[in-house]
Amino acid sequence: MSAEHELEVLNPATEEVVATVPAADAADVDRAVARAAVAQRSWAAAAPADRARLLRRFADVVDTHIEELAQLEVREAGHLLGNARWEAGNARDLLLYAAGGAERLLGKQIPVPGGWNVTFQEPLGVVGVIAPWNFPMPIAAWGSFPALAAGNAVVLKPAETTPLTALRLAELALEAGLPEGLFQALPGYGHIAGRALVDHPDVAKIVFTGSTRTGREVMERCARLVKPVTLELGGKSPNIVFADADLKRAIDPFSFLDNSGQDCCARTRILVQESVYDEVRDLLADALSTVVVGDPADEQTQMGPLISRQQLDRVRSFVPEGAPALRGSAPDGPGFWFAPTVLTGERHDSAAACEEIFGPVAVLLPFTDEQDAVRLANDTPYGLAGSLWTRDLGRALRVSQAVRAGNLSVNSHSAVRYWTPFGGFKQSGVGRELGPDALAAFTETKNVFISTEGSAQ
Ligand code: NDP
Repeated sequence: MSAEHELEVLNPATEEVVATVPAADAADVDRAVARAAVAQRSWAAAAPADRARLLRRFADVVDTHIEELAQLEVREAGHLLGNARWEAGNARDLLLYAAGGAERLLGKQIPVPGGWNVTFQEPLGVVGVIAPWNFPMPIAAWGSFPALAAGNAVVLKPAETTPLTALRLAELALEAGLPEGLFQALPGYGHIAGRALVDHPDVAKIVFTGSTRTGREVMERCARLVKPVTLELGGKSPNIVFADADLKRAIDPFSFLDNSGQDCCARTRILVQESVYDEVRDLLADALSTVVVGDPADEQTQMGPLISRQQLDRVRSFVPEGAPALRGSAPDGPGFWFAPTVLTGERHDSAAACEEIFGPVAVLLPFTDEQDAVRLANDTPYGLAGSLWTRDLGRALRVSQAVRAGNLSVNSHSAVRYWTPFGGFKQSGVGRELGPDALAAFTETKNVFISTEGSAQ
């Protein structure tokens, strides 16, 4: 088989081959979409309670495979075992939450003269979900499960580096009794299988998570077919630390080191009020020196490897030899390792301060006052997430209104929750996933007027 026809999955902690899986081409995408379209018709016609029951059964099956799914994620993505267990649990919990949505997908009755007016939330048909490698399981779930609950079929293309949990989830769906073809995982290369899914006339919507560059291409290609998109793209999120904050909590290094920094919400711009800059720098230096980087399967480890050699090279390119920085340590030898790093000599318009690095690297930048903090926080094309730390309630409210980002935390670095909405402003994306309205993004609203006119005999 040629390299175009298969994907070699590497363990990023050892560089050993974990698995080889076939890579889908355009003809495979055609066949998958045709199967999905058939399955979708009967799925949409099923009673909402029946769809909900099957999705709950799917959740039960995922629940009995949490450990297996987590171990797969450790091997293919280098995730910490504890995190990977949480991620598999997140997929299960979202299934349960979305299942309830199937039963509550309500229309409206709107008073009009001369009849009744009702609206219906109808499924779109076949939805294409294109997932990245940084959180393969949760992101596949966020795109796919609300779509299924709303009566759609899903063809999921996982990232080429991390296809294994997606494939396993699709097998578990069948085991739970979901109809054949309704939820398919189709590993393949983005420029082949991903593009074929985007261009397919029978795919009614694309949910894409990944880089802003590829997201822009996906949006342009979808525009030709007037195909709706949900895009979850990059970020360069600020962590705004005012002088009155609880500094130790505010500079928690895992706000940018979690998942080795391969997190679109990573707080990689640490903006610190200048009066406490030195204190924060010293706290950060201490914190970085104690971070345990190593084997992700070891429960004592706090940070694992990067996903690939390519990602390691990219991260390195932002941290030149001798750049002023605070650093932790990382293992030598095989694996894609990079030590936790905070760059201290950057200007706020430098590449490291502006671009999404997607590695364990943050920049430390001073600000003078509240206005300056908001200016710096917003001086980016991104707008995904951010944290702000202050004991002044009025300031917390003002700054959280002024920062243009979709997901903010005050005195917290809270993670994404499946029951609250998630998505970006500006070039961080289009649309929202998760939360109480997640299913609406996978429906069309149909308005029907029923005349009551006629003779009343
Ligand atoms: P991409 O955006 O290129 O990949 C994301 C997904 O899109 C993958 O499944 C990929 O497939 C697929 N894809 C790639 N090209 C196309 C295409 N032309 N049409 C349809 N689908 C396509 O991200 P990368 O993996 O290249 O990562 C590069 C950078 O992107 C990272 O350094 C990071 O900055 C950012 N990123 C952001 C993420 C986020 O959560 N917002 C997630 C991942 C990356 P394949 O795997 O085969 O390339």
